[in-house]
Amino acid sequence: MRIVILAGCKEYEISISLDSTFEDLKAVIFSITSIQPEEQKFEEIPEETPLETTLKDLNFSDGKTLTLNDTFCSTKVDDFTEKMEQIIQQFTQTEQLKLLTRKIQIGLETKTQNQNLSQFQKSFIRTIIANIEKSNQYEDRYLQEKILSKLPIEKIMENENENKKENEKENEKEKSDYLIIKKTISWFKNEFFHWVSNLPCEFCKSTKTTREGMGVPNQEDLLFGASRVELFRCPDCNRVSRFPRYNVVSKLLETQRGRCGEYANAFTAVLRALGFDVRYIHDWTDHCWTEVFIPSWNRWVHCDPCENIIDAPRTYEKGWGKKLKWVVGFSSSEVVDVTKRYTEKWEEVLQRRSQELNEEWVQNQITKFNSEVLETVNQEQKKIILLRQEKEKLEFVDSKESLPLKHEETRDRISGNEKKN
Ligand SMILES: [Zn+2]
Repeated sequence: MRIVILAGCKEYEISISLDSTFEDLKAVIFSITSIQPEEQKFEEIPEETPLETTLKDLNFSDGKTLTLNDTFCSTKVDDFTEKMEQIIQQFTQTEQLKLLTRKIQIGLETKTQNQNLSQFQKSFIRTIIANIEKSNQYEDRYLQEKILSKLPIEKIMENENENKKENEKENEKEKSDYLIIKKTISWFKNEFFHWVSNLPCEFCKSTKTTREGMGVPNQEDLLFGASRVELFRCPDCNRVSRFPRYNVVSKLLETQRGRCGEYANAFTAVLRALGFDVRYIHDWTDHCWTEVFIPSWNRWVHCDPCENIIDAPRTYEKGWGKKLKWVVGFSSSEVVDVTKRYTEKWEEVLQRRSQELNEEWVQNQITKFNSEVLETVNQEQKKIILLRQEKEKLEFVDSKESLPLKHEETRDRISGNEKKN
């Protein structure tokens, strides 16, 4: 059965079975619109409708039209059409089409899986899908060009030969990838991107604003992947500033601000634009970073743009005292559980996360999504990726405890705490 979803000025057609539940429907709509299931309200369905009600019981039939409640499209600007046109011009057609096609595709796949899953399981799958979507952007040629136009490449490259001693020359090739990444991450952290704790007032620039809950995303926010909007009230002029948490990299290149999610998203895209193979890393205990494959080192390397650190994977557990659960890497062609790279206490981590989700189920999901996205690359690339994944598994088995701790791995978190220093 096909139904039509009207969300603001957009129309989406989805295919869903009559036996699906109201909750399944919400999950599919989330995958297409990025509007969280709990925030979805429909004109045609009473708000108190139980989630387990089937579409059959809701008297759905083929061709049914559903209207997402107007509050989600609350941009009450008169020149709305004009504004949308401007936005769409910035946001290339290729990016838009690619994201949309992928979203619909994944949404439909999820619909079928979602039956009989627990809340934890659903939320886990939702996070995986959101991160696959995010990392799909990095392959966009237009985006890569846009990034390269912003990067001070000459500055990054020109200093590369500085301070090079004679005996280091043989290691030149080995060092050059690392140096490029080192200079790029330092430019990104110190010059390009800005940390937001409390958003300064956009009207009078006061920095004394206080958090005032969540706002409702408008069309522009949703177009740039911000289903969450934080609000900050200014004590000086009493006005409210909005902080949409964008997920679309081309938008982040303009705003140049955020927290770890925005940092990792934009920085992963930057390294991809420089030609490196990259992964966006999502840590379920609320942090994100990047992994980059350094060819001359022949391995995946941890990189945290919030902290300006490279290859210091024990930072979180040792330095910050994190109790890790799942740490998963995403690219347009991979979904990999990389938790073991970041812990010396694997048994403890395993026990902790098994209390929330069955480990076998998690591994099956990751394997399934990994094979699915791997299908999007050619045979040659597929071979390389699989070889690297095999080699990586062996690295994970090696004990890390014997390696000396780096200075960065023993220090507390910097990002978000800078003002206190
Ligand atoms: Zn103000």
